[in-house]
Amino acid sequence: MLAPTDIQLLLARTESFAAQAFECASAADADAAIDETLWAEFHRSGLAMAAFPTSLGGLGLIESNSQSDLCTVLRLLGAGDLSTARLIEGHINAIALVCRYGTAAQQASLAADVRSGALAAVWGAEDAAGLKIVRQGNHDELRGRKILASGAGFVTQPIVTAKSGDDQYMFLLRIAPDHPVDLSGWTAQGMRSTATGAIDLTGMRVGPDEQVGAAGDFMRQPYLSGGAWRFCAAHLGAMERLVDLFRHHLVARGRGEDPYQLQRIAACVAAARTARFWVEEAARRFGSEADAETIVAFANMTRMVTERSALDIMENVQRGVGLLAFIRPDPIERICRDLATYLRQPVPDLAMSNAARAWLNSSLPVGEF
Ligand SMILES: Cc1cc2nc3c(=O)[nH]c(=O)nc-3n(C[C@H](O)[C@H](O)[C@H](O)COP(=O)(O)OP(=O)(O)OC[C@H]3O[C@@H](n4cnc5c(N)ncnc54)[C@H](O)[C@@H]3O)c2cc1C
Repeated sequence: MLAPTDIQLLLARTESFAAQAFECASAADADAAIDETLWAEFHRSGLAMAAFPTSLGGLGLIESNSQSDLCTVLRLLGAGDLSTARLIEGHINAIALVCRYGTAAQQASLAADVRSGALAAVWGAEDAAGLKIVRQGNHDELRGRKILASGAGFVTQPIVTAKSGDDQYMFLLRIAPDHPVDLSGWTAQGMRSTATGAIDLTGMRVGPDEQVGAAGDFMRQPYLSGGAWRFCAAHLGAMERLVDLFRHHLVARGRGEDPYQLQRIAACVAAARTARFWVEEAARRFGSEADAETIVAFANMTRMVTERSALDIMENVQRGVGLLAFIRPDPIERICRDLATYLRQPVPDLAMSNAARAWLNSSLPVGEF
């Protein structure tokens, strides 16, 4: 458990970092790049190291009993800027994977790199050819590329997944800052400043020093699907910011007493609060002793609730604010674009139906799901 002073300090720093990210977000969106000063602040604030255990100079934010604090951190970051939150969520996930499956040497090495200013990420998505491990002479190397890799061009310590036959492995790579990346395909309507691109890793040597854990560890449950609550927490932060901006708009224009607007406000508050109950509970359960199946089912249901809440909030805010919500650089315009894009996560139908099936096949009262 973190000492109260550590938690308070971290949350205060996160709040001030998120406020800075919010200030920078409009320019970052226009330039499709996050300002370097923000990354410098990310490291200076202690946020970059916070996920590591205290023995490695962090605050143990990825440990089981700190998931509620991590939830608050990601929610605050999502309220600041979703692109920044996405990159930091990837950074934290990479640290979690290395701390869960990696060797002590890999953990110490990543901590040293992050302390020196490195950013980590998890790059799992790939094209049909995939990233392969091939034998070359007396060593193994990678062949192929990763796609939809956030932070391509400035993340230097990514975890990548690669296959040898049917076995999937994770590698913690060291990528040179000038390693070629292809950002030309990242023309998404939102999340423009995440530098989400393709990167060819052909020829990179991999061996025991780079391999993190054993075959199949990346897909291990409840960590893979159960961890989905983290992106939900970032989405939730953006929803809360949208609802705040909606209130500000209505009050500033003297339109708050209109019964139709009050109805929209009620719907927004209920949706944001509903998502918060679910996301905070999913975070708590992720760190609990509950069995893997229960944790995954709850996280999957949380994804569905969060997505529905976000879509409802965006519709209400856009209809209640009107055209202004579509005109740059109003933050509502950008946040809706970012949120709509970031909501698109893998296999949402499967996540929802798996959650439904888990309850259907159990004998749990619904209130105890
Ligand atoms: C901003 C952003 C940053 C990202 N950064 C990273 C990153 O750093 N690293 C990384 O690995 N990935 C990253 N991703 C990619 C992410 O992990 C997912 O791969 C991606 O978001 C999947 O979205 P999708 O809509 O294409 O999913 P899909 O799973 O293709 O879903 C699209 C629709 O198809 C349905 N569907 C899916 N499968 C089937 C099927 N077999 N039959 C019928 N219907 C199906 C789904 O339910 C859904 O309705 C990022 C994504 C975003 C938006």
